Amino acid sequence: MSHREDAIGGLRLAFLLGNPVSHSLSPLIHNAAFKALGIAAEYQAVDVRRTELPEAIERLRVGRVLGANVTIPHKETAVELVDDLTSDAAATHAVNTILVSEPGRLIGANTDVEGFSQPLKAYVDALRGGSAVILGAGGAARAAAFALLGGMGPRRLTVVARRRDQAAKLIEDLGSEDINNVLDRASFDDAAPAVRASQLIVNATPVGMAPKEDTSPWPTISDFHEGQVVYDLIYAPTTTRLMRDAESCGAHTIGGMPMLLAQAAASFKLWTGREMPLGAVRKALLGTF
Ligand code: NAP
Repeated sequence: MSHREDAIGGLRLAFLLGNPVSHSLSPLIHNAAFKALGIAAEYQAVDVRRTELPEAIERLRVGRVLGANVTIPHKETAVELVDDLTSDAAATHAVNTILVSEPGRLIGANTDVEGFSQPLKAYVDALRGGSAVILGAGGAARAAAFALLGGMGPRRLTVVARRRDQAAKLIEDLGSEDINNVLDRASFDDAAPAVRASQLIVNATPVGMAPKEDTSPWPTISDFHEGQVVYDLIYAPTTTRLMRDAESCGAHTIGGMPMLLAQAAASFKLWTGREMPLGAVRKALLGTF
């Protein structure tokens, strides 16, 4: 029996490694999926401090482990702690999923790239060749920038950050993907022309997240207009102030919940080889919001 078949046959574990993890919906999502498919596996969230990450990842090599998700603040450090990287993880310099590909061997993947791209599919033809802005320059912004360079082929892609060095590092790290030299950076103070001229605006900051639901990463409503898509990666609340502001100006909006489900489904498929039963997962999530 192969490791993968054995993994589906007996009780296996999958973990979320991050800090903090208590608010995470991932245990609910993955455990609902395991249950719906009759897979004898359990997903557990584990609070892991920075100094504990190497040992936590080492422990995945032994025992009945399918893999793990890695979240804030460990996605970049995890790159150095696995044996191999998928192309998405290598390009973004970030790992959000670890797969135990055979006993003891750890592959680092980044399913945030697939998760980000999936909800945009309906818009991508209309957006192709247009300009885009990403607010924020952290891990999610990296996944978004990589996905957009490959999928949207933007004329210009501006990364808006409050720390210039963070945006500069993102642009440097994604340099080999930026074959048309479209990556650009701006501060929040000088990004208004780019926001107004963009067909796609992505919020990859936590601004607007519960409990501070009345805040917005881009409070200037007059910069939004018809023909724009405003994609907020925040999933709690499911509709943010940014989305409401943009909708009031005629823009299309996408929230973070579809990305959350799509990145989870991609991780689940890596671990089990099965499609995530999204109906059962959505039902389990219903009580949460
Ligand atoms: P991260 O690595 O910590 O990056 C956050 C970015 O936002 C950084 O550039 C940070 O700048 C910036 N930022 C934070 N507070 C800010 C403020 N008040 N004003 C301006 N910029 C600010 O976090 P992440 O993993 O990329 O996550 C970012 C957001 O995406 C979170 O809301 C997260 O929930 C969401 N997300 C959603 C999904 C999904 O599946 N829907 C997946 C991943 C992430 P500094 O470094 O200077 O603070």
